[in-house]
Amino acid sequence: MLGGRIRAESKPGKGSAFYFTLPYQLKEKEDHKQKQVLPKVEVPDYLKKMKILIAEDDVLSAILLFRIFEKYGWETIIAKSGTEAVIHCLNHPDIDLILMDIQLPGIDGYEATRRIRQFNSNIVIIAQTAFALSTERNRAIKAGCNDYISKPIDKVTLMSLIKKYFKK
Ligand code: MN
Repeated sequence: MLGGRIRAESKPGKGSAFYFTLPYQLKEKEDHKQKQVLPKVEVPDYLKKMKILIAEDDVLSAILLFRIFEKYGWETIIAKSGTEAVIHCLNHPDIDLILMDIQLPGIDGYEATRRIRQFNSNIVIIAQTAFALSTERNRAIKAGCNDYISKPIDKVTLMSLIKKYFKK
């Protein structure tokens, strides 16, 4: 899904080596692209003042989401563990949406969601689930998540999900 390649070399009795590549866009190219795309980012009026909590232990994934939301002008908080996510929710009752990773260190995304639901039933929680894992999705809904989205997160899918819950 990330557009890379993977291969392995194996010798009986000796061992195996695994190789993979991941495409990386050069910074320059990225900036150029962003400049072109920036004016086209359309955020409807009802989504102008969003406050989002990203619960994600993978720093790169968190930053990618952060940069998208930054372009929309949204206030974003990052939590690197389930416990941190719960604490941020307690301290910031004005958070509108949580993107909850399921695989988190300490308490996982399910447990963090259950704890948050004990004091906040209104906040929209979207679980970030492993691609094509329907058991994870079902468990996420049972734990109290409103919805789920597969990782790696597709920007367009995410935006339509957000519109679904915040359209007035
Ligand atoms: Mn994770």
